[in-house]
Amino acid sequence: MNKTFLAMASATVLLSGCSNPFLKDWNTPYGTAPFSKIELSDYLPAFKEGIKQQKAEIQAIIDNQEEPSFENVVAAYELSGRLLAKVSGVFFNLSESDSTPEMQKLEEEVLPLLTAAEDEIFMNKDLFRKVKAVYDNMDGLDREQQMATEKFYERFERGGVGLEGEAEARFKEINTRLSALSQQFGTNLLAENNAFKEKTGITVSEYPSFMSSCDDREARQKAFEAYSTRGNHGDSHDNCAIVLEILRLKAEQAALLGFKSSADFLLDNKMAGSPETVDAFLAPIMEASMRKAKEDLADMEKIAGFKIEPWDWFYYAEKLRLQRHNLDENLTKPYFCADSVRKGVFYAAEKLYGVKVTPAPEVEVYNPDVKAYRLNDADGSLIGIFYWDWFSRSTKRGGAWMNNFRDQYLDADGKDVRPVIVNVCNFPPPTEETPSMLTVDEVQTAFHEFGHALHGFLSRCRYPSVSGTSVKRDFVEMFSQFNENWAFQKEILSEYARDYRTGEVIPEELAGKIVSALKFNQGFMTGELCAASILDMKWHELTLEQLSAFDGAESIRAFEDKVCKEMGLIDEIIPRYRTTYFNHIFNSGYSAGYYSYLWAEVLDVDAFEKFKEDGLFNPATASLFCRTFLERGGSEEPMTLYREFRGADPDPSALLKARGLE
Ligand SMILES: [Zn+2]
Repeated sequence: MNKTFLAMASATVLLSGCSNPFLKDWNTPYGTAPFSKIELSDYLPAFKEGIKQQKAEIQAIIDNQEEPSFENVVAAYELSGRLLAKVSGVFFNLSESDSTPEMQKLEEEVLPLLTAAEDEIFMNKDLFRKVKAVYDNMDGLDREQQMATEKFYERFERGGVGLEGEAEARFKEINTRLSALSQQFGTNLLAENNAFKEKTGITVSEYPSFMSSCDDREARQKAFEAYSTRGNHGDSHDNCAIVLEILRLKAEQAALLGFKSSADFLLDNKMAGSPETVDAFLAPIMEASMRKAKEDLADMEKIAGFKIEPWDWFYYAEKLRLQRHNLDENLTKPYFCADSVRKGVFYAAEKLYGVKVTPAPEVEVYNPDVKAYRLNDADGSLIGIFYWDWFSRSTKRGGAWMNNFRDQYLDADGKDVRPVIVNVCNFPPPTEETPSMLTVDEVQTAFHEFGHALHGFLSRCRYPSVSGTSVKRDFVEMFSQFNENWAFQKEILSEYARDYRTGEVIPEELAGKIVSALKFNQGFMTGELCAASILDMKWHELTLEQLSAFDGAESIRAFEDKVCKEMGLIDEIIPRYRTTYFNHIFNSGYSAGYYSYLWAEVLDVDAFEKFKEDGLFNPATASLFCRTFLERGGSEEPMTLYREFRGADPDPSALLKARGLE
């Protein structure tokens, strides 16, 4: 037993008399959070105690008189901060999915504490000297240990450990300010999304469905205008000043570390490596999308008999879909009610990886909408605990995501700690009369998020910093997008896609139409995704000096217009996210990283080719996929894993082909 663990254990004993549930062992099923026992007032003392404990653990690493080794530096750090991970796991999941004004206020208080604590670790020169000693001498380590060491070392370098004096103080100050600004951006956006609903009567996640089906052109225009101006109304929820300050501060930090722009800094440790590589990757995708979009536009204008505006696209695309593929979403929805889709998602995982999913009513949930499940291996051993939180509510931010309450790792005794994972979506809640029914797009989202969950669940790593989804940002979407492939496979559909009224399995003809229509409207779909990726890059490629010329809403809009024109985006399409509601890049860690979806798609499309070659449900191929990728998280470089799986590099042209854009 090492010193770090002893320090942690004694701290827990001292506090066991207290009533704060975070400071006690959770004697709950599978050690899951006892949500009903947690009071709002428990978080702050638990965060403070967690920070204090980790500080002591870090000090013990520094004070250790033995030669620095992987075990007494990196592994000791990996095991530190467990209380902090426990309280953060609960707090940050709930602050996104079940937030209240009280929680948002608390977040404002907690974030500066966490930022300062993190800076204290990653700007600590004594600790860095020890880490560097391990990093400079990695020969005897295995690959996972090397990857964990590199990642740890990099966090110091990128966290400003090399800075001195004024620069060091400024760097810290920026970190604190950035965490407050990101949080403010998210809080404003949640308020703007709720205001959007007030104005239009629909939620943000219902927007595409509404725009596809609403016959009233004026109502569509009104919805489009409300949707595309979120965060840009010059009121107390306006995000203009916030995004400009975030961009400037990020550029300043990059400059302090010797990078030209924040894009240069952010891409330096990604697969892509540089902004130039990303720009060169995106340009031909944009070009191919616009070629296709213009063809579709001409056909849509033939149907409409007038010039299409951005608020007409969804509507006439639906008409064109009907004309070309004879597919009407109103006919498919009854086959995709939420309970059925959930069965399909679980069934695919069982068929491929032998994962058995069963309800776990003994596990407490944080909201009555949420359901808990247990995942077991074919041999019965526990894989992890899963929370299913699918329906929209006013306390949840928009979009869909996967998150961990607890990571997979080996504890100090070598015991395999299994993960606790949540999938959060904004699907329509059931009504008194009808169950929740999903669109084709939403079915794909359900498979997508569970793909992330499987990446977290099937992890068999030792160190939490490289387990599960802790991989490079432009690699992580490979596994979610890969999982989307199974949504509409015949063998899976016949298991889950049943009309909720009659129990009838989806007719083959209708299923066939869904599959053939998947490539429909890809000029628009790929175009708006690629446009948002380019807009993200262009903002982050600006230098501090260039950014200083920006001033308020007008300048933001003018920049967006210029960038859209230069990339060749046609006027009838806008980027999937405009600056003032681009949560991914201003509040979610995808800064200069929104391209990751397309980047990873090159890999997932090519990986799926292997399944097509070997047989879709070939157990050996699925097992190889699981062992090579899912079990290994970030314990090896992405391309090394990829070549191990495929025996070659991916074919970049497969992406355009898969989207029907070649
Ligand atoms: Zn994803």
